[in-house]
Amino acid sequence: MLQRLRLMIQRFAYGRYGNDKLNILMFIVALAFYIMSLIFARGIFALIGFVILILCYFRMFSKNCQKRREELEKYLKIRTKIKMWFKLQKDKWRDRKTHKYFKCENCGKVLRVPKGRGKIAVTCPGCKHETVKFV
Ligand SMILES: [Zn+2]
Repeated sequence: MLQRLRLMIQRFAYGRYGNDKLNILMFIVALAFYIMSLIFARGIFALIGFVILILCYFRMFSKNCQKRREELEKYLKIRTKIKMWFKLQKDKWRDRKTHKYFKCENCGKVLRVPKGRGKIAVTCPGCKHETVKFV
């Protein structure tokens, strides 16, 4: 009996996408909406949470693994960008007395130069574009 049930579950799970980091985030967001619906006594939050949870299960049991992997990749790219932005802010704050940060006018790469040097020519290590800065 138990073995048959296990076999049924295995057969159901076969070829399905399963869980990933995006699903975990979606689950947490859905949970947050449920909690908000309890705090603010608004049904709309519970409804939004429910929809997100349905999407979460849809992704988990989806057989289109390629599409789900692409979604995960997009999510991870955005997450990395956000993490990098926060790291930059932290670094800027840490170096606020000793260094100045600015973006390369040509390629957008963030450059860091020591403060208090007056007028200097800065060469971007990425694209070799040279700019004159007063630091
Ligand atoms: Zn550059």
